[in-house]
Amino acid sequence: MPATPNLIDDVYDEILSRNPGEPEFHQAVREVFGSLDRVLERNPQYVQASILERICEPERQIIFRVPWVDDANRVRINRGFRVQFNSALGPYKGGLRFHPTVGLGTVKFLGFEQIFKNALTGMPIGGGKGGSDFDPKGKSEGEIMRFCQSFMTELSRHVGEYRDVPAGDIGVGGREIGYLFGQYKRMTNQYESGVLTGKGLTWGGSLVRTEATGYGAVYFTQHMLATRSRSFDGARALVSGSGNVAIYAIEKVVELGGVVVGASDSSGAIHDPDGIDLALLRDVKERRRERIAVYAEERGGRARFLPGASVWDIESDEPIHVALPCATQNELSEAQAAKLVANGLVAVAEGANMPATPGAVRVFREAGVLFGPGKAANAGGVATSALEMQQNASRDSWSFEHTEQRLAEIMEAIHERTAATAEEYGAPGDYVVGANIAGFTRVADAMLSLGVI
Ligand code: GLU
Repeated sequence: MPATPNLIDDVYDEILSRNPGEPEFHQAVREVFGSLDRVLERNPQYVQASILERICEPERQIIFRVPWVDDANRVRINRGFRVQFNSALGPYKGGLRFHPTVGLGTVKFLGFEQIFKNALTGMPIGGGKGGSDFDPKGKSEGEIMRFCQSFMTELSRHVGEYRDVPAGDIGVGGREIGYLFGQYKRMTNQYESGVLTGKGLTWGGSLVRTEATGYGAVYFTQHMLATRSRSFDGARALVSGSGNVAIYAIEKVVELGGVVVGASDSSGAIHDPDGIDLALLRDVKERRRERIAVYAEERGGRARFLPGASVWDIESDEPIHVALPCATQNELSEAQAAKLVANGLVAVAEGANMPATPGAVRVFREAGVLFGPGKAANAGGVATSALEMQQNASRDSWSFEHTEQRLAEIMEAIHERTAATAEEYGAPGDYVVGANIAGFTRVADAMLSLGVI
């Protein structure tokens, strides 16, 4: 079958009608398909083997009831999901998100992205994602634990070191991974460390895992900047979010000589023109688990809180050179992108998954801004998860320096691979094309080798 120019559109239409009501999944598929025409032209074997159709259909989708008892002794019900999307390269690998917006469509979008991201790391991991519409906000410690235990009671049937290895994502950090692992251990009567990543350091976790996504996104940006003979030294940056990814992105930017002037959470943004006081931000967000307004209150008049605003709405008199969206999907609009471009933007790297809307991505690319898509720029997190699995499998634990060195090498290799692929396919400097094609071909070739699976 020849790769007709309409093939990609036809497959996309079919995916739309087979997966109704899942706009984020459609958006993620469309974004990847947007880079693939040249690939199908050069590789008719992918067309013959219906790789496009197959790669968009998860291998398995699990939806389950999660009953738990709240502090008032009332039974509450949430919905749990695990989408085991593709295991051509290794066991399914990807995080769990606990957030009220989680539904099958969200998990499918994240799982789909994860396939290509994981492929780009060069590590032997397939793609999957899971989560629940459970809202951890305002829940007590006991409620969180009981929810995690119930969630794992069902999930335990579907995961395993050689089958599917979840980790954290929004709403799931070290505390939740602990409760999940404790319940898995109890149910299986085995200390199977490699079943989850993001574990605590005394019970099978890896150094650098917590920092990895944020650090990795900054390393990726550093490599992009270097292609234009620039660096973080003296650069001004905005970072959205104030979770794990944002906090360690800020730390690394500052370590490399940059200044971060804004951060945010779901209640609003802070503008701190002198540069964020990271110790205070961490104290407010990580230790006290307070809203970000408290940061501005305690910053002695140097920072402003913008209620309900996004970091991308900050009016800065001085140019902003780097934007690191590290909050959530579709958080950065086309209009906000245009404003950033007008204010001297040089580079964007997606620390979150799909934070820039398609319109924003178009604006960045048309303006010649260096744009690192999430599947390349934030792959440091899952890559370090793979390093954690490696340590678990060999019953070893590596030093911080060694692990960070491995992370830095992996991010350099991802940058190299995406840049080289973009060049090879006639789109030099286009990391979107490079990441999509390099990730896709790696998975597609493995699928071809494994037969009709
Ligand atoms: N949730 C992270 C991501 O989006 C990490 C997944 C993992 O470590 O398995 O890539």
